[in-house]
Amino acid sequence: MTWSFDIRSALLVGAMLTLLIGMLLAVVARAMPAGLRPALNWWVAATLLQPAGFVLLTQRDALPAWITIVLANALIAMAFVAYAVALRRFFSLRPRAGLLTAMLGLAVAVSVYWGLVQPDLTRRLIAISVVLAWLLGYSAWTLYRNPDSHGLVRHVAGGAFAFSALIMAYRAVALVFEPGQVTTIFQLTHVQLLTYAIGGILPVVATVGFLLLCTDRSQRELERAARLDYLTDVYNRRAIEELGTRAIAAARRHGMSLSLLVVDLDHFKHINDELGHAAGDLALVRAVARIREALRAEDLLGRLGGEEFIVLMPSTDGASASAAAERIRESFSAQPLDLDGRKRTVTLSIGVAVLAPADRHFSQLLQRADRAMYSAKHAGRDLVVADPMSGWDAS
Ligand code: GH3
Ligand code: MG
Ligand code: MG
Repeated sequence: MTWSFDIRSALLVGAMLTLLIGMLLAVVARAMPAGLRPALNWWVAATLLQPAGFVLLTQRDALPAWITIVLANALIAMAFVAYAVALRRFFSLRPRAGLLTAMLGLAVAVSVYWGLVQPDLTRRLIAISVVLAWLLGYSAWTLYRNPDSHGLVRHVAGGAFAFSALIMAYRAVALVFEPGQVTTIFQLTHVQLLTYAIGGILPVVATVGFLLLCTDRSQRELERAARLDYLTDVYNRRAIEELGTRAIAAARRHGMSLSLLVVDLDHFKHINDELGHAAGDLALVRAVARIREALRAEDLLGRLGGEEFIVLMPSTDGASASAAAERIRESFSAQPLDLDGRKRTVTLSIGVAVLAPADRHFSQLLQRADRAMYSAKHAGRDLVVADPMSGWDAS
């Protein structure tokens, strides 16, 4: 029994697999966050262009050379450019349109020259291999040099691109040292076999790898969103309680102090009643921005709910925390908030508490800061009050 490997059939199977996985990606793309859409669209385009180029390659004996050589190579180079653009989009890098268009132009130029003007298969294959190796290498490089590269997952697409780039480079070198070895592109030399094998496998492995990157990214975004308040973008209550528990453990471990502010906007109901709920929302956003201005990078800001906020201040004693609270209070009373042209002064009542040896849970620290905040309310608002148990008096 004999069996034979036919390069044309392999190319067609590769093209079909690429199309199928591209369609799968297009379907999955619709469930991905909008921010990933541009990258996904470029990738889907690549999985359409590459099979088109492969199918044209198989028609070498049936169709004119400008279609089966120039157009086919242009489509394949375009596909590799599209993979590269997709990856750059994925990492929010600028697409490098000039550089990539130049490589595409080079692929077309060598195909025209050694395909139509001075037909020379060996030189054409060498030149095309170099261009494609560069494009594939560029995608691998984009994946590996990016700090946000998603750990292990990046190796699927990254490895596929790097390996394919090496095979292309190997083909160029092999043809330079042994120029006569390929006389038609369908000849079963080990170099051509390797080339078409990766041609069929690369898109499948790389697309699976890219899909993994996208799901990993969307998972991270969901986790991040679940920790943030949707209106003001600061930590929500659940996240801040978790961070607070951790901050207490760290403060105990390093023998550092930890302070906490509870900040409540005064008479906030009036803003909603007089200016409307939308203006109230805007006031909350502006208030957060102003509180943030007064904080250090290591302070953590969260929204406890409604118009009540919390600031966790690591390595901060009561005196410094109260001074910071006083600065925040003053910045509100001294200057109105700008609510899309309407100015409105909003004052704050702030309670300050410091981690005490008796505090076993974050909720106890929070409760003391909250009580101090209510004392500020009862004392007439626009005031900072420190929790007496913290052993420090704000006045
Ligand atoms: P006090 O000085 O005693 O704190 O008075 P206050 O009106 O600020 O406090 P109160 O707790 O009585 O009312 C808080 C108001 O905050 C009630 C609610 O309409 C408003 N509020 C809570 N969350 C939001 C929000 O997300 N957007 C808007 N616009 N208003 C909110
Ligand atoms: Mg209030
Ligand atoms: Mg309140």
